[in-house]
Amino acid sequence: MAELNRRGFLGALAGAAGGAQSPRGLKLFLNCDMDGSPGIFTREQAWYWENGARPEVGREACELFTADINAASEAALEAGATELIVCDTHHGGGNFIQEKLLRDPRISYLYRSVGIEDGKRRWMPGLNETMAGLLLPGHHAKTGTPGAFLPHTWNFEWLDFTINGESVGEIGIEACFAGHWGIPLIHVQGDEAACAEARRQFPWVVATAVKRGTTDACTGLTPEAAKRETAQGIKQAIELLRAGKMRPYKPALPMTVTLRMRTMDAAARAAQRPGVLRLDDHTLEARVGSQSEVVKWLLGTGLDMAPAPERK
Ligand SMILES: [Zn+2]
Repeated sequence: MAELNRRGFLGALAGAAGGAQSPRGLKLFLNCDMDGSPGIFTREQAWYWENGARPEVGREACELFTADINAASEAALEAGATELIVCDTHHGGGNFIQEKLLRDPRISYLYRSVGIEDGKRRWMPGLNETMAGLLLPGHHAKTGTPGAFLPHTWNFEWLDFTINGESVGEIGIEACFAGHWGIPLIHVQGDEAACAEARRQFPWVVATAVKRGTTDACTGLTPEAAKRETAQGIKQAIELLRAGKMRPYKPALPMTVTLRMRTMDAAARAAQRPGVLRLDDHTLEARVGSQSEVVKWLLGTGLDMAPAPERK
C-alpha cells in the first residue's frame, strides 16, 4: 500500500510561505480512471476482469492506459507543474503497468485509490491543502447517460447520486471531495459524454474528448492523437488555473446527499448505516458536515477510514 507523508517529500515544495499556487510549487493530483482512456473502445478492454474477457486484451488495455497517463504526466510537468501525485482509481486501482510508468522524481504514484497518509487510511492520500488542482484522466459519464461509453456511477447499483439536489457522477463526486480543501477540478479527459457532463457542471473546466461511445463500444482518436489533444488541454487548464480562472466545487454545508439504488435490497442494507435515512424503497439520504464525506456515509470511503479488514 502506498504511504505518503505530508511533511516528507510531498511537503518539501509547499514550503513554509507557499500556498498551493505559489511560484514555489504547483502540485497537481491526477485521479486516473480507465473507462474514458484513449484506445479503450470495448467493454472487454475496460472491464477486463469480467467473465470471458481475454487476459491479453486486458494487458493491452493496461498498456494503453499506462502510456496515456505517462503522456498526461509529461504534459503537466512541461506546462509548469512542479509535483504530481498520479493515482490509479479504475476498479479501485491495480491497472498501471508499474515497470512502464514514467520515472521522474517529481511524480509519485498511488497504485490504489485508498492508502495511508500520516498513518491514517484514506481516499486519495496526498490530496490535501498543499495541492493546486485536480485532473481526471480517463473518466466516464454517470449512470444512464445516453450516447456514453460504459456510463456508470461507482457501481451498477447506483442509479442517481445527488449533492444538494444536483445529480452528479464520479466527476462531480471527486470534484466535491477535492473541494473540501478548496482544490478546483481543472481538466477532464474522457468520451464526449463525460466531457459534456464535466462542462455542464463546471463550465470553466477544460475537457478533452478522445472518443465517442455507445454503451458497449466506441470509436475515437488514435492513442497518439489523443495524447496530443490531451496535452493541449492540460496546458490550457494549467494556464487558466494560474490566471485564477478555476473554482473549487464546494457545495454548501451541511450537504444533503441522496442515492437512488437499483434494488430494494441494496437500499435496505445501506439504510442500516448510522445517519442514513431511507426516503423510499430505493432512495437514501444523508446530511454530512464536510465535502470530504461525500461518499463516506455510504461506503466508508473518505478521510480517517476504518482499518482494512484483516485478510485471512
Ligand atoms: Zn469510474
